[in-house]
Amino acid sequence: MAEYNKLQPDLSFVRNVMEAGGDTVKRCYQCATCSVVCPLSTPENTFPRKEMLWTQWGLADKVAGDVDVWLCHQCADCTVYCPRDARPGDVLGAIRASAIRYYSRPKALADMLSKPGGVVGAIIAAAVFILAVAAMWAQVTGEGFPFPEGVVVYDKFLSVIPIDAVFLSLVAFVLFVCYNGVINFWGDISKGAGLPLSYTGSVPTPSLGTLLGKYTWPAVSDILSHARFKKCGQTAERARGHLWLLWAFIILFVVTNFVFVAEDLLYNAMHLIGPVTPMPLYHPVKLLANFGAILMISGIWLIKTMRDKKTEENVLKSSAQDWTLIWLIFAVGATGIGSEVFRLINVAQIAYPVYVFHLACVFVLFLSLPYTKFGHLVYRSTAYVFQKWAEDVKAGRAGFGLEKPSGAGEH
Ligand code: SF4
Ligand code: SF4
Repeated sequence: MAEYNKLQPDLSFVRNVMEAGGDTVKRCYQCATCSVVCPLSTPENTFPRKEMLWTQWGLADKVAGDVDVWLCHQCADCTVYCPRDARPGDVLGAIRASAIRYYSRPKALADMLSKPGGVVGAIIAAAVFILAVAAMWAQVTGEGFPFPEGVVVYDKFLSVIPIDAVFLSLVAFVLFVCYNGVINFWGDISKGAGLPLSYTGSVPTPSLGTLLGKYTWPAVSDILSHARFKKCGQTAERARGHLWLLWAFIILFVVTNFVFVAEDLLYNAMHLIGPVTPMPLYHPVKLLANFGAILMISGIWLIKTMRDKKTEENVLKSSAQDWTLIWLIFAVGATGIGSEVFRLINVAQIAYPVYVFHLACVFVLFLSLPYTKFGHLVYRSTAYVFQKWAEDVKAGRAGFGLEKPSGAGEH
């Protein structure tokens, strides 16, 4: 008697995708128009038609193992041409949102940070926490709290020691969650990519050295130039805003690390140099920091404007999560510039509260990395690296011993 493979639909996966903005998925009737217009589709790999079917059927494992989901930049060409208004571009966006939630731990944080109210609550909680740390620090230093005496200097309110303690703990936590998520994600896409198995029957796994040495730079170079993003059709103008934002994050990352090394390590911890903050406005690092902040605000504003326009044109569907992340990034940039301006004009009653709000927004933005759409940075980058490595494995260029070595297993 013939054996049949029974499908095991995961209805919670379908529900999650529909709730995350993919509620049109069931309209798809598999005409494949989307695959004709999608730049990622090939005759052997009809993307995203098959992903629409897998999602309708609740085949969560298939979708989780599909790296193409992460190579799609939501250009929305498929959405525009779909005759059933099934909006495959939006469905793929919802699949990515569900995947980020799936790979994150603890889930409670993902649930909280996916809602605007949760993000506002997190900012308030972070601000209260920062104020509590500053109050304790004032006991140590004898400075006034919440407004230290004299000209506005943020070091008097909260010096590098408590700030480093708070933010380095956060960095360690976020990196740990991201690491776990990426390992599980890599495992899933490795299983789903149809890679040739090794002679032991296992899916090939690259060494970290191979990945970093050979595959990371080509992927990073793609990301830094947004080369793929620029090929998007209906939403190509999104590339500029995203690119500005990416470079703003890179610049601010460099500046923050410079201050950490120079002020916190070389000055405060080792006493090898004098203090480097507050920096004069003409200091090259200060100039770079201000450039980064302006780039961040301009980039996020471009993204917001484009999203408004494309939502109005019915090309993109924007979820509450999309808008929350946009406003959170905007708040980080605006409060950063506000802290500097009110410090320079020396208005303590505004400067210190704005500074606390800025630190709280930075805290929540960083915390949201593994839990929200911000996680695209992590998973899409991983997908880029994976794709380049998988191409080499399939073409036999990755140097894996897929064949059984002579003598192996013989006794
Ligand atoms: S998503 Fe739309 S275009 Fe694509 S197969 Fe389904 S109905 Fe056709
Ligand atoms: S949004 Fe663009 S890249 Fe993504 S599936 Fe649709 S056509 Fe393809």
